[in-house]
Amino acid sequence: MPELPDVETLRRYFDATALHQEIGDVAVRSGQVLEQTARRTLEGLSGRSFEGTRRHGKYMFAGVDSGDWLVLHFGMTGDLKYFKDMQKDPEHDRLLFSFTNGYHLAYVSQRKLGEVRLIGDVDRFIEAKDLGPDAMSDGLDLGTFKDLMGSKRGMVKSALMDQHTIAGIGNVYSDEILFQTGIHPRLQLGDLDEAGLETLYREMKQVLQVAIDRQAQPEELPEDYLLPHRDPDGRCPRCGRPLEQVQVSSRTGYYCPNRQGEA
Ligand SMILES: [Zn+2]
Repeated sequence: MPELPDVETLRRYFDATALHQEIGDVAVRSGQVLEQTARRTLEGLSGRSFEGTRRHGKYMFAGVDSGDWLVLHFGMTGDLKYFKDMQKDPEHDRLLFSFTNGYHLAYVSQRKLGEVRLIGDVDRFIEAKDLGPDAMSDGLDLGTFKDLMGSKRGMVKSALMDQHTIAGIGNVYSDEILFQTGIHPRLQLGDLDEAGLETLYREMKQVLQVAIDRQAQPEELPEDYLLPHRDPDGRCPRCGRPLEQVQVSSRTGYYCPNRQGEA
């Protein structure tokens, strides 16, 4: 599932390809998911252009020259593809913008369409969704992070994945952050001291920045990163021991019992 580094990479891709071009045709190919009204609003983008983008957590927003914003949430498998030749139209394109310059932008998803709709105000949308601060925003400084974590109970991994606390981190990157910090996924927030919280904060920013810099490509990550090894036969990239699995918030996490302790 696309998390902050993946969505940031998609946002930059959108910026590099799809801005400042007149939208011709809009094809919505996922009728069972999108309501008629949502479909009509999207089709109403014909004649408009995208002028800029924003991101908050796992949400991307594309600004339309009308002042509206297109919300893109990539669900479990969403992706973007910009191309010219319609023969290269990717499989499972759920939404296709055809620009008058002959190029196309497809929202691709093997599963159903994630959240896609037009809104008037991004900040109001974020507020209505009750999203926490974006994990990479300057506003999420150490003090704010400590306050947010200090106000919660439960496991550290659950807190990192809770979009209402901090927006952008899911199962995969919370595993990486905990691995880099050396914290067991089932550790309770209350058992984390001041120094532990600070290290967690630093590693969170660091891991996400590294992943963004490497365009969220697992094979491009540093050698001591857990992410490319997250599978049932995976081994710890640092000590070589088999990774363990753990259920947290009904997701399967991976960790090294040597580095992060036993459950
Ligand atoms: Zn290890």
